[in-house]
Amino acid sequence: MSQPSSGTAVSAVPVARDLVRITQAFDFVARAHVDQRRKGEGAEPYINHLAEVAHLVAEATGGTDANLIIAALLHDAIEDVGVSRTQIADIFGEDVAALVAEVTDDKSLTKAERKQWQIEAAPKKSPRAKIIKIADKVANLRSIAVSPPPDWSEDQKREYVWWSSQVVAGCAGVNPWLEDQFAQACRSAKLPPAIDHDKESVADFLKRFEAIKAGLPEDFDDDQLKAHGAVDVTDDHRGLGIIIGQRHRTRGET
Ligand code: ZN
Repeated sequence: MSQPSSGTAVSAVPVARDLVRITQAFDFVARAHVDQRRKGEGAEPYINHLAEVAHLVAEATGGTDANLIIAALLHDAIEDVGVSRTQIADIFGEDVAALVAEVTDDKSLTKAERKQWQIEAAPKKSPRAKIIKIADKVANLRSIAVSPPPDWSEDQKREYVWWSSQVVAGCAGVNPWLEDQFAQACRSAKLPPAIDHDKESVADFLKRFEAIKAGLPEDFDDDQLKAHGAVDVTDDHRGLGIIIGQRHRTRGET
């Protein structure tokens, strides 16, 4: 009889070892987030969010990157429940720890600063971190559609769509399927003015949103937008772009 070693009941072949590590991560985050609930009116257990993000990442990558799925499960562990990077590295390895650190906000910043930082940092992230970021935004947007925080106004929901669209636009190009999930989440959320990907690109959507916020007429042109301080920064990912305009203080949180 072989003896249990390195924390597993039997010595596992590589694929089986990945399954063990993923279920270990599931158990770990279920315990770490046990007292946390979602902010929506349904106050869903937080593990639902982590499971959804991990599932989206697994689907998006065809289940080929176990560490990325584990990092998706752990993506809020440092930020929300004070798990340390070292602890994650010790249990799940340096690659997972680095991924989780990459998608963790700097808590020394104010909430508004963190939101702005997410927009500015998104294009600089590694492709794998971008996949987690988009999956997180898809899950959050879906939650706002079906179980919005009870104290949120329509204006706050709009702000959230606006902000998360900018973060996702900065992550564009890494996974078309996942980006399409975001587009679908926007569509099903029916949050005015929701992006309609059949009719406009993310860049056009953001321009339209900026114009509405600036009080411009519907047939605004780019010069009018620029006059209101919006700068069009178009990247080379699939023609998508981001507009970083005046800094918007984003209300509410998710
Ligand atoms: Zn999250």
